[in-house]
Amino acid sequence: MIYADNAATTRISDSVFEKMLPFLCDQYGNASSQYSLGAKAKRAIERARKQVAAAIGAELLEITFTSGGSEANSWVLRCVADTYRNEPMHIVTTAIEHHSVLNACHSLEQTGIEVTYLPVDKTGCISVDNVKAAIKPHTKLVSIMLANNEIGTIQPIADIGLLLKGENVLFHTDAVQSVGHIPVDVSDLRVDFLTASAHKFNGAKGTGILYKRSGLDLSPLVFGGEQERGLRAGTENVAGIVAAGYAIEESVGEIADTSKRLKAMVEDTVNGIKEKIPSVRVNGDSECRLPGTVNLCFYGVSGESLMHLLDLKGVCLSTSSACTSGKGEPSHVLLALGLTEQQAKSAIRISYGKYNCADEVGKVVTAVCDAYKKIVENR
Ligand SMILES: *Cc1c(COP(=O)(O)O)cnc(C)c1O
Repeated sequence: MIYADNAATTRISDSVFEKMLPFLCDQYGNASSQYSLGAKAKRAIERARKQVAAAIGAELLEITFTSGGSEANSWVLRCVADTYRNEPMHIVTTAIEHHSVLNACHSLEQTGIEVTYLPVDKTGCISVDNVKAAIKPHTKLVSIMLANNEIGTIQPIADIGLLLKGENVLFHTDAVQSVGHIPVDVSDLRVDFLTASAHKFNGAKGTGILYKRSGLDLSPLVFGGEQERGLRAGTENVAGIVAAGYAIEESVGEIADTSKRLKAMVEDTVNGIKEKIPSVRVNGDSECRLPGTVNLCFYGVSGESLMHLLDLKGVCLSTSSACTSGKGEPSHVLLALGLTEQQAKSAIRISYGKYNCADEVGKVVTAVCDAYKKIVENR
């Protein structure tokens, strides 16, 4: 099997798994317990917090662990909105956000909050000027993803952060696809909130990270005990948090090597497919893109059919994002690029990760081209 869907999730790193395992077995203490088994769990969580903070240039107490990226995104949107519930409120976001941001915005609109969904150009980039023009006197929050999960386009977050510096506006970025894949530093980006998720950088599923700049208040989304300094209740997922710490340390340490390798693999994949299928088109920005992710359109052919045929050949990739595929609806991201519904439905996403190797490229190219040929010949 070839797994080329690392934007959906990644395999846990071998060394991270080893570090995590004891906390699923003999080190099973509750971090809130007063005896030494509990204290050990607590110490493990605090070590992970240190590793995460160091990896993104944050301070220890600016890091809170959640159940995932979706929870962290929902937390920021819902609780910032809650803070301003007695005032007119406007949020600026983009048309290509992950559904955990978009659907949170839709639910806020139901409560009377105004939301602007910024358009993107045909490479999937938003313009800093558009952000500037969208700011209104009652704008309280701007939420823009760092890199898109379907097409990989990287947004000019640092420039937007600079622009918003003088404004009285909170700035959040969903960096779930970026952390561990491209350099991410919260001071460089000038963000107030940043979301990451461990299973996207070879950690375990079910652990997210919210960075919250020190000095900012955010009410809890999950109520209960005093875990995470009262910010996020619920018995900590100690093993998942331990994995997140080691995984972020490992993946950030390997960024230079891995990104160079994955970029070359993506390039070879695209060139290999183009050789046999000249009409194939790359969606997204050709330069400003995540190293391992590429989205391709095969006009006249259904991406879903391609995906299923490739599955039979042992190649795992997806049509758009893991969350929308299966519903048969065209990707909101590809539609925002200006693609027609039919074009959008002809897309597949290949996303390589650190466990892919160069000799898989040829196999992916052959499998994709064979599947394409089979569909074209059979109609
Ligand atoms: C995967 C993903 C999320 C959701 O993270 P989970 O930990 O799976 O909840 C949010 N945003 C982006 C961009 C993602 O790719």
